[in-house]
Amino acid sequence: MTCTFCSICAGEEEAEIVNETDETLAFAPLNPISEGHILVIPKDHYETIFDIPESTLCTVVKHTKIIAERLQANGFDGANLLHDSSQHQSVPHFHLHIAPRRSDDGLDLWPESGYEESNFTLTYEHIRKKLSDEDSE
Ligand SMILES: [Zn+2]
Repeated sequence: MTCTFCSICAGEEEAEIVNETDETLAFAPLNPISEGHILVIPKDHYETIFDIPESTLCTVVKHTKIIAERLQANGFDGANLLHDSSQHQSVPHFHLHIAPRRSDDGLDLWPESGYEESNFTLTYEHIRKKLSDEDSE
């Protein structure tokens, strides 16, 4: 099965490339959700946050910061960052979305939480327990 993002990295598929490093690529998505929406990906194929090596993830995040700073220098007030490792992930190649924002853009990309759940405490306790287990190793 061919990976669309690997094909873009190989130059076999067209994309609006906005910036590139030896290990990462920043390009416009086919269906932008905001003005200047950009995806940052590793050139090597990893599917999600769960299989990308920490060093590669750091490289992607460093590139994301550079892009965000350039966007800010060009008039954007900030950005929303998103990575989806759920069943809703559109392309199974790790990508970080940068959705540049303006204070008056009227977008609601990060809606106020209306989620009603009573079990947050249990989830947080599992994370605390796991992290403290790793600390004691
Ligand atoms: Zn790929």
